[in-house]
Amino acid sequence: QQQRAQQDGGEEQKKQLPKGVVLGPDGKPCRSCTSVSSWMAMARSAPASKDKQPGTIQTTTPPAGATSSLSLPDDCPPDVEQLGRSTWTLLHSMTANYPERPSLTQQMETKQFISLFGKMYPCWVCADDFRSWMKDGNEPRVSNRDEFGKWMCEAHNAVNVKLGKKEFDCNKWEERWRTGWKD
Ligand code: FAD
Repeated sequence: QQQRAQQDGGEEQKKQLPKGVVLGPDGKPCRSCTSVSSWMAMARSAPASKDKQPGTIQTTTPPAGATSSLSLPDDCPPDVEQLGRSTWTLLHSMTANYPERPSLTQQMETKQFISLFGKMYPCWVCADDFRSWMKDGNEPRVSNRDEFGKWMCEAHNAVNVKLGKKEFDCNKWEERWRTGWKD
């Protein structure tokens, strides 16, 4: 009965959360999974209380005037968008610096990295979807730089589509991330 009451409490908490706020495995709002705007909506709607109970919504005070990750001070924890931008920069830059003729060891280590990345990415909902996408016939293609770069571009496009953003032309991945744009 107690377990049921706890479950009902969790469901009740979810219902009270503004759209876009994602809970972490600990049942608390996950900062790395939530945009600043949703986080702020939650902070506005949460009752101000000094003696918060375990399991209730815990919020940090957002910086005054912040409305999106663009206006977040540099030294604040990243939201889902800032974390995403930084991560894509790292991932595409890795493909840009990948060898044209990688050894078998390099190929194997790259696959291991992607696999571990898919488990450890701090936005757990993003990581779950990324792993599902790979399982769904999109295993990493790492036999040379261009393959890996295009594969990463496709992975990024899968997220773009999910978020309703424009797809990127994967024939241009190298201009964007390695050589710079042609004149
Ligand atoms: P970003 O999408 O971060 O792109 C940065 C730059 O990369 C762009 O300005 C563009 O120049 C270039 N670019 C764009 N598309 C491509 C491409 N296909 N190939 C090469 N270059 C490209 N956010 C969520 O809200 N929900 C999710 O489920 C989610 N899943 C994610 C999964 C992963 C693995 C990662 C790394 C991030 C995820 N994100 C998710 C974050 C999301 O993808 C964006 O990073 C975030 O929304 C910020 O978007 P942005 O428009 O600033 O540009």
